Amino acid sequence: DPRIHAIQSRIRVVPNFPKPGIMFQDITTLLLDPKAFKDTIDLFVERYKDKSISVVAGIEARGFIFGPPIALAIGAKFVPLRKPNKLPGKVFKQEYDLEYGSDCLEMHIEAVEAGERALVVDDLIATGGTVSAAMNLLGKHFYDSLHVDRTLVQETSNGIQLIRMNVHNRTTCTY
Ligand code: 5GP
Repeated sequence: DPRIHAIQSRIRVVPNFPKPGIMFQDITTLLLDPKAFKDTIDLFVERYKDKSISVVAGIEARGFIFGPPIALAIGAKFVPLRKPNKLPGKVFKQEYDLEYGSDCLEMHIEAVEAGERALVVDDLIATGGTVSAAMNLLGKHFYDSLHVDRTLVQETSNGIQLIRMNVHNRTTCTY
């Protein structure tokens, strides 16, 4: 797709940020180009419209940039997956390991119902730990009998990556 090259060229690579040895992919430069930003959203909308997705779950913080426009365009609700102690209602929590230490994501319990099909959105996958935690969080509705089918449908458009996850009644997650 010719749009992908333009999108890729708008992602700034910053060496040694936030610490030595990391090549940070900075998507804020993509957001400065309205056409490349719109093309990014359109690519995902084209891929995921008409797939019966009723939930777009965005991971704090950059999933909050890309998730909502995708949700609006495909007619799904948007559910923020937040860092600890930000959500006021009853939450599910999922801790996950980082390179050094651990972190946690939370989701309002009532935001998603059994049988819904969810799309998890973030800007980038490195180890996959964050998106796995997001998947587990959505799966907590089915905690008693959760079965995870690790058929990988990870799709990449040069730095912007997106994971598809289906939560069926029979609690199969594909991500
Ligand atoms: P993972 O859990 O897959 O190791 O790391 C992915 C998470 O860290 C995502 O939430 C992503 O936003 C953030 N992250 C890690 N490296 C980068 C990077 O180079 N650029 C950006 N924009 N985010 C990053």
